[in-house]
Order: sequence, then C-alpha cells, then structure tokens
Amino acid sequence: MEKELFIETIEVIEKQQKIDEANTKHINKVFGGFIESYNNSLINNQIMKLLQAEYPTYPGGICDIEYFCFELDFGRKYKDGMVTQDDEIVDLSTSGKLWDYLTSTPKSKKMILLKIKYRTKYYYTKAMHFVGLCPKCFSWVNYTTTGRAICPNGCKY
Ligand SMILES: [Zn+2]
Repeated sequence: MEKELFIETIEVIEKQQKIDEANTKHINKVFGGFIESYNNSLINNQIMKLLQAEYPTYPGGICDIEYFCFELDFGRKYKDGMVTQDDEIVDLSTSGKLWDYLTSTPKSKKMILLKIKYRTKYYYTKAMHFVGLCPKCFSWVNYTTTGRAICPNGCKY
C-alpha cells in the first residue's frame, strides 16, 4: 500500500473514533448512563482487517497497527524506547513512521527479532477484552461504538 493511502486510512480511523466517542458522550449527557450511539464497529473492524491482510499480525492476533492506534493513541503516547527491535529504537510516533517500520523490515526477520517487553500491557489488555473483563477490577465491560471496552466502574487503562 502507498504511504499516502496508509496515512490517510489511519487518519480516518482516528477521526471516526473521535466522532464516535464525542457522540457517545453527548448522548449519555442527554439520557444519562451508558447508551450506545450508532455502531460503526463492523466497518471499523473491516478496515482493520484490510490493513492486516497487507501487514500480517503476529501469532495470537497481535497487531502493530492496532498497537499504534489504540495503545499508543495514534502516536500521542509514544516515547523513544517503548518499542525496540535488535536493540534499535523503533519510532512509532506517527502513522508515517509506522508505515516505514511495517514496510522496511522483512516479515520473517521481524517476527524473530520483535521485542515484546514493552508490549506486555497491550497483550494483557487485549486478552482481557477478548474475554470481556476489565483488566483492573475484572468486571464485565461495556463496549463503545468503536469496539473499545469501558469498565462500568470507570477504570482507566
Ligand atoms: Zn474496572
């Protein structure tokens, strides 16, 4: 995939997520409590699937693109040293840098050299969401329209 198209696609995912979050917030302000607004998760999941067809995930469904979007908050939470490979810093500060990373390293080599120590929280959170539990207080979670889990007790993670 061309870099421009990749960056644009990630930007659309982010935009849609912000819109969904804002809508959910507004609706809940009016009606109180947790109410789902329009559900975009089918299309969001399919876009992610298309990206993953081009940039395959690791065993267990671990995905660099999801990691960038949802754990690094589209690069906002990125700090040098969070992701390393072969003792080299992998810069995931922007979707453009993510594209550089995804396209620069041969995939077989990447699989072997990938260092996961900084990604443990991501794996754990992902696994707990799969089961439907809050990773902090183990309550059953609710889901936003973008498929993000929200703890009924307000845990932040
Ligand atoms: Zn919780």
